[in-house]
Amino acid sequence: MTIDDERSYDVVIVGGALSGAATATLLLRQNPGVRVLIVEKSAQLTRRVGEATVEVSAYFMGRILGLTQYLNEHHLVKQGLRFWFTSDEVKNLEEASELGGQYQVRLPSYQLDRATFDEEVLRRACAAGADLLRPASVMNVQLSSGQDQTITLKNGEGSKTIRARWVVDASGVGALLARKEGWWKSNTAHPTAAAWSRWKGVKDWDGRELAEKFPKWASAVYSIRGTATNHVIGDGWWSWWIPLKGGDVSVGVVFDQRLVEWPQDDRGIGDRLKAFLMEHPVGREMLADAEFDAADLHWRKNLAYYSTTFAGDGFVLVGDAAAFMDPFYSPGMDWISFTATSAAELIAAQRRGEPMQERVERHNRDFANSHRRWFEAVYKDKYEYMGEFDLMSIAFTLDLGFYYLGIASQPFKMGIRALLVPPFSDWASRPFFYLIRAYNRRFAQIARRRRRLGTIGKRNRGRRCLIPGFTLKATDVGLLVKAMAKWIWLELTEGWHSWREPG
Ligand SMILES: Cc1cc2nc3c(=O)[nH]c(=O)nc-3n(C[C@H](O)[C@H](O)[C@H](O)COP(=O)(O)OP(=O)(O)OC[C@H]3O[C@@H](n4cnc5c(N)ncnc54)[C@H](O)[C@@H]3O)c2cc1C
Repeated sequence: MTIDDERSYDVVIVGGALSGAATATLLLRQNPGVRVLIVEKSAQLTRRVGEATVEVSAYFMGRILGLTQYLNEHHLVKQGLRFWFTSDEVKNLEEASELGGQYQVRLPSYQLDRATFDEEVLRRACAAGADLLRPASVMNVQLSSGQDQTITLKNGEGSKTIRARWVVDASGVGALLARKEGWWKSNTAHPTAAAWSRWKGVKDWDGRELAEKFPKWASAVYSIRGTATNHVIGDGWWSWWIPLKGGDVSVGVVFDQRLVEWPQDDRGIGDRLKAFLMEHPVGREMLADAEFDAADLHWRKNLAYYSTTFAGDGFVLVGDAAAFMDPFYSPGMDWISFTATSAAELIAAQRRGEPMQERVERHNRDFANSHRRWFEAVYKDKYEYMGEFDLMSIAFTLDLGFYYLGIASQPFKMGIRALLVPPFSDWASRPFFYLIRAYNRRFAQIARRRRRLGTIGKRNRGRRCLIPGFTLKATDVGLLVKAMAKWIWLELTEGWHSWREPG
C-alpha cells in the first residue's frame, strides 16, 4: 500500500518485527473485522539479536502463533543452556568446568534467525488481514485518552497524519512513546553492555575433531552440545553462542560495566570481541579458525531500561518498546509473549465495550510489578557470581526449576490465558519472588567476599554439573529440593562469613 491510501484503522502498530506482528496476529484472530495497520521502518528486516527462545516464547510461537512446522523446517531445535567456566588454572576446553543438561531437553525451544523468522510472522499477520506500510516511519503520536489517537507517518513519498482508536508501540529499543512521553528510564542498578556479531567457521561442538582431541570430554554428555545456547563465561561477563540454520553462529559478549574492563584500543569492535573471547580457553578452542561478519558488528551500552507507563485507554507498549532487562536466560521473547497477549486483550476488552480505567490500571500495575520483581529476583547483581561454577550450578538449577514450576508450566496447563498474567505479578508468586531474590543476593555476597580474598574462580577447574533436566512432573520438585540443600550446605560451610555484610 502507499502513504496516500485513505483507508481508516482501528489499530496502528508501530514496528513490524516480532512484537508488532505477533500483536497484530492476535488482534485479527480475536476481533473479526478489526482494521489493523502495521508501519515498519525497514524495507526488509535484517539480522537482529535475540535468537534463542526459551520455553514460554517457544510455546507462544509454536502453539499460539501456530508456527511449529515452520520452525522445524527453517530454524533449529534448541537443546537448552550450557555454561563453560574458567580460571587461571584452566588450560583447555576439557579442563573448563561445564554446567548443562546430560540429555536432550524435554520441552520445545528454538534457535532462530530473527531476520527470516520475524519476516514470516509479519507475512502471516498480513495474510490474516493486516495492512502493511513499509518502508515508513511513525514520526509522532499524539495521545488522547479514550478517543482517537493522531499518528504522523513519513516515507520517501512524503508525510501524512492518520487517526486510529489504538496505537500499539512495538518500536523496539527506539521506544517511541516511552521516550516521547518522558516515561523511559535507564535501569542504572544494572549497567550492562554488549558486543556481538554473526560468525563463520566456529568449530563443531559435536564433531570428530573435538571428539578425537578430548574423548572423555566428548563422551561425558549424551545431549547434542552444539544446538544448545552455549555460554562461555567469566568473572562479571558471559557470552552467548547460538547456532543458526545454515551454519552461522551468533556470538556476543555481555558484561557488567562495574566489573569488567572492556578493551579500549584502536582495534574495531570485532577484533576486540575476538581478542576478549580468545582469553577464555573454550573461546580459544572454538574460535581458532572463526571469522566474524564485519558488516554485522554491534555494540550497545546500558542495555537495561523500562517505561514507567505500559498502557492507557488508546495505547499500549509491547516487547522492547516497554522494557528490556537482560539477555541472560533469553527473557526477551517471553516478555514479548506476555506483553503482546495482554495488549491484544486490552484492545479487545475496549472493543467489547468494557470499562477501561480499572483494566488499564491493572495492566500498568501488573507489568510494573512483573518487570521490577523479575529483575530484582533473577538479575540484580547476578554478574557478581556469574563466573563461579559452584554458585552458578546451584543458581541455575533453582532458576530453571522455578521457571518450569511457576512460569513455563502455566501455558501448558491453561493455554493462552496464562500469558495474561506476567511473571511475578500475582499474589501466588510472591513467596517465590522473595526466595529467588534471597539466594541470588546471597550468591552475590559470597562472590564479593571471594573476590576480596582473591579466591574467585578457584573452584572452576575440571568439574561437571550435568543436570537431568526438568519436566512438568510434580516429582521434579525433588531436583529443587536437592539444590536448596546444596545452598544450605554452602551457607553453613562458607556463606556464614558474609551474613552480616550489606546485600
Ligand atoms: C545483546 C542482546 C541479546 C539478546 N538475546 C536474546 C535472546 O537470545 N532471546 C530473546 O528472547 N531475546 C533476546 N534479546 C532481546 C530481543 O532482541 C528483543 O527482546 C526483541 O528482539 C524485541 O523485539 P521487538 O519486536 O520488541 O523489537 P525489535 O526487534 O527491535 O523491532 C522493532 C521494529 O520496529 C521498527 N521501528 C522502530 N521505530 C519505528 C518507527 N518510528 N516507525 C516504524 N517502525 C519503527 C524497527 O524497524 C523494527 O523492525 C537480546 C537483546 C540484546 C540486546
